[in-house]
This record gives sequence, C-alpha cells and structure tokens, in this order.
Amino acid sequence: MRSRKKVVILGANFAGIACARRLSSHFEVTVIDASGYFEFLPNIHELLSGVKSADVLRLPRRRLVETPGHTFVCETATAVDTQARCVELESGQRFDFDACVVAVGGVNNTLGVRGAEQFSLPFKSVEDCVVIAQRLRDLLTSGKKTSVVIIGAGLEGVEALGEILRGYRNHPRLAVHVVESGEQILPGRDPRLGDDIQQHCADFPVTFHLGESVAALAKTRVKLASGRSLPSDVTLWTAGAKPSPLLFSSGLAPTASAWAAVTPTLQSCVAPTVFVIGDAAALPDRVSKQAYHALDMGAHAAGNVRRFLAGVPLKPFSRGLELGLIALGDVDTYLTVGQRIFAGPSLAAAKELVFQANMARLDPPLGASPAIALGQRYWRGLHRLALPALRPAALRNNLSGLRVIAG
Ligand SMILES: Cc1cc2nc3c(=O)[nH]c(=O)nc-3n(C[C@H](O)[C@H](O)[C@H](O)COP(=O)(O)OP(=O)(O)OC[C@H]3O[C@@H](n4cnc5c(N)ncnc54)[C@H](O)[C@@H]3O)c2cc1C
Repeated sequence: MRSRKKVVILGANFAGIACARRLSSHFEVTVIDASGYFEFLPNIHELLSGVKSADVLRLPRRRLVETPGHTFVCETATAVDTQARCVELESGQRFDFDACVVAVGGVNNTLGVRGAEQFSLPFKSVEDCVVIAQRLRDLLTSGKKTSVVIIGAGLEGVEALGEILRGYRNHPRLAVHVVESGEQILPGRDPRLGDDIQQHCADFPVTFHLGESVAALAKTRVKLASGRSLPSDVTLWTAGAKPSPLLFSSGLAPTASAWAAVTPTLQSCVAPTVFVIGDAAALPDRVSKQAYHALDMGAHAAGNVRRFLAGVPLKPFSRGLELGLIALGDVDTYLTVGQRIFAGPSLAAAKELVFQANMARLDPPLGASPAIALGQRYWRGLHRLALPALRPAALRNNLSGLRVIAG
C-alpha cells in the first residue's frame, strides 16, 4: 500500500481549522496549535459585559481536528524548515511534511511604547477578555471613581467600548477615554461611521482623543505624545497586531515586522511547499485581516494542497465581498457591505446569527457533546442578544430606525 502524503497545519483557529476540515483522511494530516481551544475572536468583546461567557466562545480543538480523521498536537511550533520540509516544536519533536499550511495569525503589537507590556491589558484572546472583565467588575463594584483608557479606536477598540457601555454606562463614577492616533474613529473606514459612533457617545461618559499617540504607560496614567496625561485604572491595548515571530525565523518573511508574502495560489513566495493563509498571509492584492477571509483562505488552501500533491495546476484565491458587522454594545450595530453602511440596534441579531451559524458549521452537532454545546450556545444567544434586539417594542423602534449611513 502506498503511504499517505503528509500535510502539517500550523495554527488551528479560523484559517487552519477551515483547511483541516476540507482535507480528507486520504492524507496524513497533523494539526498543531499552542492551545487546546478554538476561539471565536470576533465576539470576545461580549465577555466584557457578561452577555457571553468563555465556554460559549470556545470549541475543543481535538474534537474539531479528529472528527475528519486527523491528528491534533497541542504544542508551540518554533520553526518551519522549508529546505528539510519539517516543522519543529518547542519539545524538540519534528514533523516531516509534503505540504505545510501556516495559519498562525498575528500577535499583540504594543508598538514599542514604554510601559505598554507591563501596564496595559491585551485584547487578543478569550483569556485576555476574561481578565479585563474581572478587572472592570472589581473596580466598578468597589464604588470608587474608575477611569478606563482604551488605546486604539479600530474595530476592537470600538467593540470593547460598546460592551463597557452595555455593562456599565449608568455607573455614576465611570469615565472612559479612547485614544486613537488617526484623525477618526475606525481609521481607514468611511468617516461617517466614526462620526455616528461619536454622536451616540455624546450621551455617555466617553471622551475621544483623536490624532493623539501614546508616549508611555505607567501604572495609573497614560502619557500622550502631546504632553497630556490621562488617569487610568485599567488600560486596554487594542492598537493592532504584528506578525508571529515564526514567520521571520522560518524565512517566510523578510523582516520581523513583515507578514509572509504569498502568491495568488496562497503558496509562500520563498517555498512552494508551504501555504500561508489567514492573517499571517500578505497577498499580492491586499485582503483585510478578517475571520471570514481566513475561513475562505483555509477552504481554498485545502483545494490547492490537494492539487499540489496531485501535481495538477493550482487555482488563484479570489477574495469575497468586504463585509462587516460592528457592534457598539446594545447602543447600535453597523453593517458594512463594500461601501454601503447601515445601522440599527436590531442588526445585533444578525451579528449573533453569524456567530451561531459559524460555530455550528465548525462543530456540527453530529454527536452528544457538540449537540449539547450548540443547544446551550443557541439558548444563551437567543435570550441575551437576539431576542432583546427583536422583541416587539425594540423592533418598532429599531427597524423603523434602521438607518442608511452610506448608500
Ligand atoms: C478582538 C477581535 C475582534 C475581531 N472582530 C472581527 C470581526 O468582527 N469580524 C471579522 O471577520 N474578524 C474579526 N477579527 C479578526 C479575526 O479574528 C481574524 O482575522 C482571524 O482570527 C484570523 O484567523 P487566523 O486563523 O488567520 O488566525 P488566528 O485566529 O489568530 O489563529 C492563529 C492560531 O495559531 C496559533 N499559533 C500561533 N502561533 C503558533 C505557534 N508558533 N505554534 C502553534 N500554534 C500557533 C494560535 O494559538 C491561534 O490558535 C477580530 C479579531 C480580534 C482580536
């Protein structure tokens, strides 16, 4: 019997899992991730107000990987040796491959700001948000005056702000500061979106500091480059991501600050046996670092791995429509479709539907455990997020108030 071709997938979140699920057990597939749980990152902000709990946002990776007949290894990879065609793990274990798929995402980027690693809380994982939620609860139930500083008014910063408002906007002693080096909220997007958010926040204890960079962080202060300084009892760092060090150390990226350049077929520009997908990849035509693109790249890479190993021509990846659902807690939700922007709190139900549908697709209810997990997720989501947005009174107000911000 001919031995099966070996495929190693590094990273098992959106891109890596989507790829693994599309590869059949005709290949010997090994999936490696540093942690045991898939995390649905686009909804982790909901931990801050408590409308979601950590268990709802996670899925056991072993189950996701073993269901299609693959092997899961819970370890950190230290290098991809593109010449020897093997992946090295922290433990010293090595896995040979005929094709490797690198889907390691990015890591928190504190931009070299003094004190940022020590005095700010990152916003990149379920665990990060559990820590932030606990800190907010402790501070805001102590009755003391509390100043929260969010650094970065991109998607993550806005969604964090929304959940803080959902949970605590009536707290008499809360002040929230949002610091953004760009001149608008949600830099890079239609400025009308940021203007709308700013208008909503005029009713709340929120101050935006736009066009302001952070110079340094101390335990209870955020120093701005303009010389001003903000009091801070808790500082959230949402100001971006940088490439995983693995890309540079493996020669897949030319510098430590570069993402891995790939061809339109998602193959590394330096090693055609290696595919790089999801946030880690730099395509010739820029693709935004979003979960739905990562899922599409994962599925596409699986097809190209099969073609590569069969020696047939590979197909170029084509990016889908730019879509986005941006939640400002229960204050408002924005739907962006290309250049179009719609707003309305009832769109919160759509965001919940996207979460539920993707979780069910990733972990279909084929056995008792996934079926029970799906039931729990569904009921909690329905009661805490979808129904409040869709109950008759809310519908009357919200649907009639569904607004077109950019048509
Ligand atoms: C707070 C937040 C909100 C977001 N909101 C949205 C949204 O609303 N809509 C949207 O579409 N996208 C959103 N995104 C972006 C989206 O989550 C990412 O685009 C997506 O997660 C990228 O998927 P990925 O599989 O490429 O990488 P990731 O999801 O980052 O997964 C990388 C995986 O690789 C593993 N890994 C890394 N290094 C190693 C190593 N050396 N060895 C082994 N394993 C390793 C990690 O443990 C991780 O599981 C959001 C992201 C964040 C952080």
